[in-house]
Amino acid sequence: MTPGRAERLVHLEVLPARPATYADWPAWAAPVVVAAWRRTGVDRPWLHQRQAADLLHAGTHTVVATGTASGKSLCYLLPALTDITTTRGGRGQRGRTVLYLSPTKALAQDPLSRLHELAVPGLRATTHDGDSPPEQREWTRDHAEYVLTNPDMLHRSLLPAHHRWSRFLGNLGYVVVDECHHYRGVFGSHVAQVLRRLRRICAAYGANPTFLLASATMAEPEVAARRLTGLDVVAVTDDASPRGRVGLAMWEPPFVSMAGEHGAPLRRSVTAELADLLTDLVLEGTRTLAFIRSRRGAEAVALNARRLLEETDPSLAEQVAAYRGGYLPEERRALEEALRDGRLVGLAATNALELGIDISGLDAVLLGGFPGTRAALWQQVGRAGRGGEDALGVLVARDDPLDTYLVHHPETLLGQPVEATVLDPDNPYVLGPHLCAAAAELPLTTDGLWLFGPGARAAVDALTEAGLLRRRPRGWFWTDRRRAADLADIRSTGGSPVRLVETGTGRVLGTVDPASAHGTAHQGAVYLHQGESYLVESLDLEESVAMVVRADPDYSTSAREVTEIRITDERRAEEWPAGRLSLGGVQVSHQVVSFLKRRIPGGDVIGEEPLDLPERTLTTTAVWWTLTDEAVARSGLAGADLPGAAHAAEHASIGLLPLFATCDRWDIGGVSTAVHPDTGQLTVFVYDGHPGGAGFAERGFETARSWLTATREAIAACACVDGCPSCVQSPKCGNQNNPLDKHGAIRLLDVLLG
Ligand SMILES: [Zn+2]
Ligand SMILES: [Zn+2]
Repeated sequence: MTPGRAERLVHLEVLPARPATYADWPAWAAPVVVAAWRRTGVDRPWLHQRQAADLLHAGTHTVVATGTASGKSLCYLLPALTDITTTRGGRGQRGRTVLYLSPTKALAQDPLSRLHELAVPGLRATTHDGDSPPEQREWTRDHAEYVLTNPDMLHRSLLPAHHRWSRFLGNLGYVVVDECHHYRGVFGSHVAQVLRRLRRICAAYGANPTFLLASATMAEPEVAARRLTGLDVVAVTDDASPRGRVGLAMWEPPFVSMAGEHGAPLRRSVTAELADLLTDLVLEGTRTLAFIRSRRGAEAVALNARRLLEETDPSLAEQVAAYRGGYLPEERRALEEALRDGRLVGLAATNALELGIDISGLDAVLLGGFPGTRAALWQQVGRAGRGGEDALGVLVARDDPLDTYLVHHPETLLGQPVEATVLDPDNPYVLGPHLCAAAAELPLTTDGLWLFGPGARAAVDALTEAGLLRRRPRGWFWTDRRRAADLADIRSTGGSPVRLVETGTGRVLGTVDPASAHGTAHQGAVYLHQGESYLVESLDLEESVAMVVRADPDYSTSAREVTEIRITDERRAEEWPAGRLSLGGVQVSHQVVSFLKRRIPGGDVIGEEPLDLPERTLTTTAVWWTLTDEAVARSGLAGADLPGAAHAAEHASIGLLPLFATCDRWDIGGVSTAVHPDTGQLTVFVYDGHPGGAGFAERGFETARSWLTATREAIAACACVDGCPSCVQSPKCGNQNNPLDKHGAIRLLDVLLG
């Protein structure tokens, strides 16, 4: 072992094996469906499967939130297929129908093959997506009993053309919302409105389907399920499936240089640590999959591990490979095959490919950084040890505050989940377009508006005022010539992305989202693309194009941004002994005013150039906390230290919110100030980065004490002296991470939390 290596293992937790708990098949289940499961090797259901199936059969809306490989599909297929087969007419005419929704088209393929394997006699199941040819669509509408589709198709095709689907929808018995933890943030809010439109249309045809939601393990699944469907939902969370012993190791790379911003210490890269760990495991013949975020990371891990193995035994190097996007399907299948039969022992893969990999029964899984959610972590670790074998998972911390917190608090990943899937169906920016779409489907009526939430009436009035809806005696009508469904882009990215185009060749190097274009693609910015550097010559915001030229400047650039925040309304508040916690509406204005040139290497600032870019404003939801002047005095911090202390607390709290709400730290922003004009006190804001809000700030308000305690712990747990990327420095800071006061942040949070 390299000297000091043992200290990198911060914690090792071994979860004991769990035996399965079985139940009997319910008496109501159709014998032909039970026989189908038996044929595929399922002799009896697990207890949670029986519980969920019973609830659904009784017409109770249910969410099943259990681990990977816990047989969630049986929970809904047993009642759904029973319903289909027992309501068919004498000559096989269609009786009740089932609609299955997966977050993407690709994710419907596995459930469809599972149905084919089950081979329930006479079952007419099919997918309905953008690729389905017209003849198939027609057959699906008239004959299919079990239709697998996605929210996009429901929104754009099935609901607007509901007249043609009236028989299918009028007989709908069940709606299955699979992998429902994907429906979070703004996307989740859109899907919530699509499901309300579906319920309304079904009701118009006399159907009142039972909803089943399947989810990864999460906090309060019934709350997320209720927000998503608008219905009261019962949760089944006791996983009765068997599991082997699982070891989960927490690994923190050591500090190796002082080359960070403002001389901050930097940790050894996750890529280098993963390559070492992969090498050791391959030397012992342990079949290992290493997950890392980027393609280049996956290539680098595989390459470095091969180099290290070559030093020991050249033949071993052949046992390691990379698995990333861009390979042909045959190449990927060949790699999977080689790993299965033992020719390959180690594979480095990108996180994004997780769902596509057809490999299980590995011995160990390495994770290059927390994959964003606890559910994703256990899904990746679950690749090892299937079929009751022992498994090892190693989480290698990246240098951000969330990873720092997790490796020092593994109980967060092991105990009751704290992360919840959040969304905000009441977001007016989301609601408005769906009300238009709903009105185009069937006129909106006063007594039907409750379905769309408390803000629906005000929104309908505003749409009428704007001339989008027309009020008539029978309700509100959509009379515009456009397709109403086109108004809602349910996978919205907030405008068209800015393309980076090479001058002369016209080659498009890549795109950046419009919100970050000001900061990364402004005139004079150095843009990195696949290891090559380019200089931005011009940014045309109207055309969404930045022209770039190949260049090798001896500096990097970083934008300086001025952010201001104004409170528009306070919706909820709690008095705390040292201050006040609030949730409400805010208006955030950003303006990129200049950029700094920093010498490479070293990072010294060698120049600053002004920029003339317009201000952008965002109307959204924020959570904020204030400290009274007495409390600030109690912290013992001098006035000059307050801005840095508040700023550091803001950064770390943004880093930690994704632990409680399934969001990315790029989904949220923050502002901190020693005295804010609207509160007159020291104030730290964290806001949703999407117009109207996405539910993240609200979740922060609801979990504030745990969230801010975790924030304090993350800062305190970091071994650096004055702040670094693992605790208070942020890669998205518009103020160049200046000022930041790590110790001051701890003192402020201590006073706030009492
Ligand atoms: Zn640190
Ligand atoms: Zn900052």
